[in-house]
Amino acid sequence: MMQLTAGSSVLLAGQSMAQIPKLDENDAQAIALGYKANNAMVDAKKYPAHATGQACKNCQLYPGKSTDAAGSCPLYAGKMVAGSGWCSAYAKKA
Ligand code: SF4
Repeated sequence: MMQLTAGSSVLLAGQSMAQIPKLDENDAQAIALGYKANNAMVDAKKYPAHATGQACKNCQLYPGKSTDAAGSCPLYAGKMVAGSGWCSAYAKKA
């Protein structure tokens, strides 16, 4: 007989988060907004407004904590953006 414990609930929750796919930089919306999973790779000529230190983890649209490796972004429904990512819709978290 299988018993679910508090530990297994955490594991199940972790698995469901892991099933949310990462946003692909080649996704049409990602290309349109210049998304890069590593903000250091942003095209500085195309996006001169990008500044060092700007990343998804400190963007208003990022619902996760600044220490989260990835989180959802309303601009890319059903996908996880990297905490270290960036796109041209960036808005500094207040
Ligand atoms: Fe990251 Fe903000 Fe762009 Fe979403 S809107 S991908 S959180 S920089």
